Amino acid sequence: MKPALFLDRDGIINVRIMDGYVRNTDEFILLADVLPILRAAHEAGYLLVLITNQQGVGKGIMGQGDLDLVHGHMQVQLAERLGFGLDAMYVCTDLAGTGSTRRKPEPGMLLEAQRDLSIDLARSWFLGDSITDHQAGQAAGVRTILVGSFPPDAATIVVPTLADVPLGLFQTHS
Ligand SMILES: [Mg+2]
Repeated sequence: MKPALFLDRDGIINVRIMDGYVRNTDEFILLADVLPILRAAHEAGYLLVLITNQQGVGKGIMGQGDLDLVHGHMQVQLAERLGFGLDAMYVCTDLAGTGSTRRKPEPGMLLEAQRDLSIDLARSWFLGDSITDHQAGQAAGVRTILVGSFPPDAATIVVPTLADVPLGLFQTHS
């Protein structure tokens, strides 16, 4: 079993659009500070697994095809900068309030990934910028890193910015 670095998308991989959605590739702005984190985790043998809520599709603001184009563009951008992309992507387009067990803060997408990829959850991390990322990670038994202005006990590790994530977290342990 391999560990995973689970990744939220908006605010972690790309610039978050407040009160809106990344609807096309022009609106997708990669955050350069995530690149060293992805490289360190990949080199230490972690699977890189996207875990993202995208209810803009459920709301009809964008189509599934638009989202697929954005994610294809993301993978190309990452591959150009790193030589590799994300290993897997889990996307929930369900609307809030529908009782979805996949939508964060529920752990459904992490558990799906665990089954699909035989992930060792106890050695894994979830990197996000919302309390719902921490909640989903914690419910799946995964340690969490929250980026932003949070109390120190809001996650396993809280850091002010992506550049402050300690890359030593991803060293291989036997
Ligand atoms: Mg986010």
